[in-house]
Amino acid sequence: MKTLKSYVLGSWQEGKEGNLSFVTLVDPSTEEEIARASSEGIDFGAVLAHARERGGPALRAMTFGQRAALLKEMSKALRDHRDELLDLSARNTGTTRPDGSFDVDGASGTLAYYASLGWRLGDRTFLTEGEGVQLAKTEGFYGRHILVPRPGVAVHVNAFNFPAWGFAEKAACALLAGMPVITKPATATALVTERCIELIVEAGFLPDGALQLIVGSTGDLLDRLGPEDVLAFTGSADTALTLRSRGNLLAANTRVNVEADSLNAAVLAPDVQDGSATFGLFLKDVVREMTQKTGQKCTAVRRILVPADRLGGVQDALIAKLSAVVVGNPADPAVRMGPVATAQQLRDTLAGIGELGKTARIVHGTGQRADGVGAPAGKGFFVQPTLLRSDDARSAGPVHSREVFAPVATLLPYDGTAADAAEIVALGGGTLVTSAYTDDAGWAGDFVARGGGGTGRIYLGSEGSAADAPGSGAALPQTLHGGPGRAGGGEELGGLVGVKLYLQRVAVQGSKALVDGLVGEP
Ligand code: NAP
Repeated sequence: MKTLKSYVLGSWQEGKEGNLSFVTLVDPSTEEEIARASSEGIDFGAVLAHARERGGPALRAMTFGQRAALLKEMSKALRDHRDELLDLSARNTGTTRPDGSFDVDGASGTLAYYASLGWRLGDRTFLTEGEGVQLAKTEGFYGRHILVPRPGVAVHVNAFNFPAWGFAEKAACALLAGMPVITKPATATALVTERCIELIVEAGFLPDGALQLIVGSTGDLLDRLGPEDVLAFTGSADTALTLRSRGNLLAANTRVNVEADSLNAAVLAPDVQDGSATFGLFLKDVVREMTQKTGQKCTAVRRILVPADRLGGVQDALIAKLSAVVVGNPADPAVRMGPVATAQQLRDTLAGIGELGKTARIVHGTGQRADGVGAPAGKGFFVQPTLLRSDDARSAGPVHSREVFAPVATLLPYDGTAADAAEIVALGGGTLVTSAYTDDAGWAGDFVARGGGGTGRIYLGSEGSAADAPGSGAALPQTLHGGPGRAGGGEELGGLVGVKLYLQRVAVQGSKALVDGLVGEP
């Protein structure tokens, strides 16, 4: 069995047994053991020092344009080995080819996007923000905001569901800003991330210390972070709370960004008629957002709001589409949806459906483990797409509080007004994305005004977007990813928004002549 390696201090360190025991990685379709991982023996103080003393100074000495060139090479290294990465993704995370490409192509695409953004920022080592402002009666005292690289280390802790994209979307922003990265994938699916880093390291273009990989536990790494560092976390709300409330991070005001879970909602507005292009888009999107990556996306649809008098018809239309989804081993060409990624995920999924069942009833699926097409009987972490329904949205308790990280969503009625929809969506406590399907600009405006503050992104599905819209689950690098409340309160991607996490805003004050000269303006 393969033993995964961490990449630290400029070399590969194989996991070993000691105080920490090995974590075993399995193929979720067959339960075959495929690799083991441990970070035993890593000197995390030395890892941090390597990033601080080697990677940081090398990156900060570069311009945005030069760092952009590194990202371009990273993107190419992943793109050139796309097929191999897709195979590893199928093996370790159970993804079908299209689901794997959502992660792997998402990684190379996001790196390429940030390379082009950095290219446009060009020959500069810091950014300016806004206009300068005169602070006294004359130009003798003047102020301007600039953004400079933070002089510490960016530590990235990622979730199991995006082993390639999760690493790449964070690393792209930090490296472009000029911060060295220590990346830690979720151990259960680290096979893909390990290979991504290997490909990038082998290509040999990154400065020493710019990128290190920890496979396994973070040991005492997080205890060692200080005021200049950044911790960016993606994962469950529970882990987020544990990490962000660490005493040393609070005492040092270490910058912490959290991308956590989210009970995303899709709302069908009352103007959308059966058979219309917008209704077709709504059905297609909801089914995709329930089943893509077996529902293991932080942006997946968990709650489906439909005008009360349409609930039965929408339920039938969704069931017709969900019934056609073939669940099984992605190695079988007939399969459209793979297993959930781990045994723990399957346990959580079945427990979660049970919890939702207290206030909603299953209308499609069984709430039990299923056998998968092309998989050995009794093996594999399979579950059928599962649709539940509650006829009283405001009393649906767990539907608004329990994230079931699987192909599971609940139909809920509302009275057709934007006000009622926004209030029901808000019961989820903050979402990464809320989608609304309407061709009525007035209804959309009302919904955005009432519900916009409770989400990081509003995806409007309409006749005009039906041909081009990628689905509400796609976190595109040009627009914000992150949401308020239980979604973590973080901000990633969104062009420069994500880069600014790794930059320090500094107000520079002095004579206008000196400040203008410093920022390179006449
Ligand atoms: P998780 O159990 O919270 O783990 C996330 C990461 O945290 C893993 O790398 C894990 O490492 C690490 N971790 C756990 N405890 C730690 C500790 N005490 N110290 C340091 N690191 C620790 O989440 P998950 O099951 O991997 O991911 C699923 C969740 O992520 C879902 O709730 C989903 O909604 C959320 N998610 C959010 C986004 C977003 O962008 N908002 C994106 C994807 C997923 P080990 O694997 O080694 O335990």
